[in-house]
Amino acid sequence: MKAEILATGDELRSGALVDTNSAYIAAKLEETGIRITRHTCVGDDLEALAELFQEAGQRVEIVIVTGGLGPTQDDLSRDAAARAVGEKLNLDQKSLAEIEAFFSSRQKSMPPANRRQAMFPESAEVLSNPVGTAPGFTLKIEQAVFFFLPGVPPEMKKMLAEQVLPRIRRMVRDDSFYRTENITTFGIGESALEEKVVEFYTIFPEIKLGFRAHFPEVQLKLYLKGSSEAAINRQRDRAVAWFQEKLGHKIVSLAGKSLPEVIGDLLIKRHLTLAVAESCTGGLIADWLTNRPGSSEYFLMSAVTYANSAKTEILDVPAATIEKHGAVSEETAAAMAAGARKKSGADWALATSGIAGPDGGTPEKPVGTICIGLAGPDGVESRRYRFPFRQRHYNKKLFAAQALNRLRLKLVYNS
Ligand code: ATP
Repeated sequence: MKAEILATGDELRSGALVDTNSAYIAAKLEETGIRITRHTCVGDDLEALAELFQEAGQRVEIVIVTGGLGPTQDDLSRDAAARAVGEKLNLDQKSLAEIEAFFSSRQKSMPPANRRQAMFPESAEVLSNPVGTAPGFTLKIEQAVFFFLPGVPPEMKKMLAEQVLPRIRRMVRDDSFYRTENITTFGIGESALEEKVVEFYTIFPEIKLGFRAHFPEVQLKLYLKGSSEAAINRQRDRAVAWFQEKLGHKIVSLAGKSLPEVIGDLLIKRHLTLAVAESCTGGLIADWLTNRPGSSEYFLMSAVTYANSAKTEILDVPAATIEKHGAVSEETAAAMAAGARKKSGADWALATSGIAGPDGGTPEKPVGTICIGLAGPDGVESRRYRFPFRQRHYNKKLFAAQALNRLRLKLVYNS
């Protein structure tokens, strides 16, 4: 079965508002095994909407429309649907009572304009809206079943889950179980990753595989379908074992978690603490770490020591080390990590010193060079890496992720 998604509204058409509804709906429909063939966005134009409904109705079996169900004159989805099927709009007394009740529960009387929201094409079945005033509806236009949902995201999401997806599942008479699993990888680009796992398509034809770049991580998405939860679990276990064999240390999380989340989990589980000394990453590592709730359990401090004098004064990096080897050097990064560990009393300390670009590189230390120091219970180590990017924002993210990954590899594989 094929489906299209249609977002309506001048705000979306003009670019004033980003269409997040369609992305959300597409992801949910994909999980049911339906193929989304098209996303369309149209402004508040009665003719254009009615025409589009008819065209989409000839192309696919299911169409989901969001927006245009409000009380104002520019909310045109009801009128356009009625026009597309050549019907009048009828007042639905039950919906009217629900809208009035919505207002009276807030100690308000219903404005006359909201009466429009209880009007539907004659052949429509109403989909009630438990969280807002705009009820949705479903009706057949040409060969397709259309579902009209409000544009307000929380209302749309609730109605999609409770009223639309169960109906769609009945339509496709599919009692299969579906699940999407995400595997996070780091250290291998999207195309190299696909090349490495290309045999997956032939070994596991029953699993749909997707790739999602969330720079600098790449997620593998496994779309699983089976006759029961147990069948899905078996498929998943086989696929995961295969990926572990193929990708080894490149797998950061089998639960789709990001590097900072994984580091947080590891430190909590082992009752360990972390401090960071950041130069080129400018506090990004600290930002990522503290985005995770509960990070105070393991994250002690980050010193953003950008100037050489700050490295010396705050982290006790010997001025002679910086002078001899440079601020971007394994030696300085090691001394920064050692200093952060000592000052904070943390079990582990990470340090970054690098050249994020776009300028400032030398032939010996070009833009994209990063030195990462790691201090732990067994001593201090430091490594230099070189990445091919010149853009500052890419390098900062990559450097921060590489540092966290260094700690992950140490903690998990002692490597
Ligand atoms: P209402 O009863 O609130 O008028 P509606 O069904 O008429 O609901 P719209 O008026 O089209 O919906 O949109 C209401 C609000 O919902 C928009 O101002 C916007 O904030 C949000 N919205 C609408 N469509 C989308 C979309 N495709 N993606 C994200 N947000 C959206």
